[in-house]
Amino acid sequence: MVFVLRLNHRIFRDKRISTHCALVARAFGAEKVFYSGERDKKLEESVKKTANKWGGGFGIEYVRNWKSFVEGFPGKKIHLTMYGIPLPEKIREIRKEKNILVIVGGEKVPSEVYKLSDWNVSITLQPHSEVAALAVFLHEYFQGKEFRKKFKNAKVSVVPQERGKKVLDLGE
Ligand code: SAM
Repeated sequence: MVFVLRLNHRIFRDKRISTHCALVARAFGAEKVFYSGERDKKLEESVKKTANKWGGGFGIEYVRNWKSFVEGFPGKKIHLTMYGIPLPEKIREIRKEKNILVIVGGEKVPSEVYKLSDWNVSITLQPHSEVAALAVFLHEYFQGKEFRKKFKNAKVSVVPQERGKKVLDLGE
């Protein structure tokens, strides 16, 4: 099972980016996103609404104390950071782990995160975004299985088209 922790959410500044972290986590095969920082009911509602419509039972949960959450996580912790070891050097080792917590930061990442993580890995050594880092990590971890992922109890489903849009309404 793959879980994601998004650190230090700020309601005003991170509304879209935290939503995108959650949507990427869901679409690419994670079970649930946890987030710390400011509690944001609207973020939770919007992620739940997407999960309800598009299926799969994805969850979102607020974590008040990220440190004790990370310390108590029953699996390996992988922190995505531009300062870490390049992912290609570690991914085979990480893939052996079936219960993982992928940690992505916000504006400022506390130094304890580096110490508490089993791996600090980089997705290029350049600054970019938690959304991009998460997507590339999950793609590498699942080796492309996300392209074939089915979402149970979906109310809608896309039928791929060369052109245009086709969405099946699967009912309640
Ligand atoms: N300077 C910030 C810091 O304290 O790490 C970077 C913040 S960045 C906008 C937000 C998050 O995106 C980071 O905490 C990290 O999780 C992710 N990120 C950005 N670039 C990355 C990279 N090259 N490799 C892995 N993760 C990255």
